[in-house]
Amino acid sequence: MDKKVAIFLFGRPASGKGTQAKILAEKMGFYHFTTSREGKEYINSHDDEQTKRQVELYKTGKLFEAEWTTRVVLEKTREIIKTAKGIIYDGTPRTLYEAKAVFPEVVKLLGKENVYVLLIEISVDEFKRRVEKRLICNRDSRHVYIRSDVFTPGTKCPEGDGVLETRDLDQKEVLQMRTDEYAQKTVPAIKFIEGLHRVKIINGEQSIEDTHKDIIKALNL
Ligand SMILES: [Zn+2]
Repeated sequence: MDKKVAIFLFGRPASGKGTQAKILAEKMGFYHFTTSREGKEYINSHDDEQTKRQVELYKTGKLFEAEWTTRVVLEKTREIIKTAKGIIYDGTPRTLYEAKAVFPEVVKLLGKENVYVLLIEISVDEFKRRVEKRLICNRDSRHVYIRSDVFTPGTKCPEGDGVLETRDLDQKEVLQMRTDEYAQKTVPAIKFIEGLHRVKIINGEQSIEDTHKDIIKALNL
């Protein structure tokens, strides 16, 4: 494989999308791209008015402004792809506006045959089951674990110096907001991309390992 690739990974909250992106990135040596992390980094290194406005949005767990997000995603993509073999977009683009601005640009940059779009699907029931069992790090909400013999509330986070906790009411509200945002904003973005590109469906109700295998099969790299 000598060409650079882009993989757009979509899925509702708790679909396992983040976990799968992480595993895939480590295995293939690709760059794991999340809008929240790149946006945060961009905020720390830029101080124009448009960027400053995003700080409050970030603090309240809301989506960044679409125009600004597009600027960040495209600038970062052009920079990252100079050295990376590939980029995995973990839930990006998140809105129809971003999809229209970002997706065709990435296709232009890497070539249609090097762009993959995967959608990890789980049912609403499975979503509810998973949310009940989720433990979140009190230092970094990207550190998510499923309650088990090994992980219980109070367990030290394996990825840092935080502690795993159940979601409190505030966090449940944030999760509800993200779920609503996914349905109202991200689903139209996926529909738009479906009109331009093949979207492969991945069954997310399997084990992490089996889901990963299906992703590898779908990529056919
Ligand atoms: Zn942590």
